[in-house]
Amino acid sequence: MAYDYSELRELIEINSYTKNKEGVDRCGALVRQKLEKLGYKTKVFERERFGDHLWFTSHKRGGKKMLLLGHLDTVFPPGTFEGFREDEEWIYGPGVCDMKGGIMVMIEALRAQKSIHNIDVFLVSDEEIGSDDSRAITYELAKEYDYCLVFEAAGKNGEIVTARKGIGTFYVDITGKAAHAGNNYTQGIDANQEAAHKLLALSHLTNLELGTTVNVGRIEGGIGANTVSPQAKLIFEARFTSSAQRDQVLEEITQIVHTSFVPGTDAKLSGGLQRDVMEETPEQAQLLQKIQKWSGQEIVTERRGGGSDANITASAGTPTLDGFGPFGDGDHTIHERASKKSFEKRVELTSKILAGFMANETG
Ligand SMILES: [Zn+2]
Repeated sequence: MAYDYSELRELIEINSYTKNKEGVDRCGALVRQKLEKLGYKTKVFERERFGDHLWFTSHKRGGKKMLLLGHLDTVFPPGTFEGFREDEEWIYGPGVCDMKGGIMVMIEALRAQKSIHNIDVFLVSDEEIGSDDSRAITYELAKEYDYCLVFEAAGKNGEIVTARKGIGTFYVDITGKAAHAGNNYTQGIDANQEAAHKLLALSHLTNLELGTTVNVGRIEGGIGANTVSPQAKLIFEARFTSSAQRDQVLEEITQIVHTSFVPGTDAKLSGGLQRDVMEETPEQAQLLQKIQKWSGQEIVTERRGGGSDANITASAGTPTLDGFGPFGDGDHTIHERASKKSFEKRVELTSKILAGFMANETG
């Protein structure tokens, strides 16, 4: 029998852009109803500027504990991409794979259990803008769990995500000295020229072989053609695949920012790590093996360049796997869609994992 997507439709038809607190909270309320029906207790982390973060806890027996992690927000401001549509193969709509589809996979897998214990759920409201508000809570909560499963979209062949790059976002404010470019050229200190030197030096930190990239995505500075520029600004990000690479690239960034290529310029660095790197670990490999056993399926894995809240739980030391949502494409665009077949497969896989976990690892 075909799966009925009406609950997913209801979630998708509510706009839950990160800054639309009212909409995010309405989605949260819908999910809360569904989980409380399964016996969950809800703890609300109330927020004024964003939607509330919601922590759902189940009855505990002895043994291990698992956290299922997701986010309620999407990247689409009201009016930019709205509504739900489906055909034979696909479901379309804002957040259908990132990650309202993932949240419905989670809910359906929980519904498939005879009873639920030792499996909790945490849903945040600000993942799409970098989880600045929820990060500390996610990090602290994660430490209470033995395993964490994250419900971002699956890979094309149902891949589970074992690694994600770490990301830092940085700002460099460069100060020079203004002067008339004709009358007093030599009295000026050129902040734009300094910005150009720094931009090149920063870009050269990119090492594709090691998976390190530094992208100066925005540059601004100066006043006009006839004035030596008194100030300039660079905005850039760095991504890296290991903690060793992280430490190295952070050190090199600091060095470049604090070197004055144009004598007399001054530069300030701000910003910092946004998501720490999610690395493959032996504990994670063990979890993966258990999952293969519980599900009776060969699990394919992949590493991704983009970050998610899995980076946070992994950096808290909790064995984490990501990508339990359905496969889709076009996420963060108006072409976002999720495959029905993969949605149904993910529900089946996750159901088996949760059942296997409770039967084998809890009291
Ligand atoms: Zn997401």
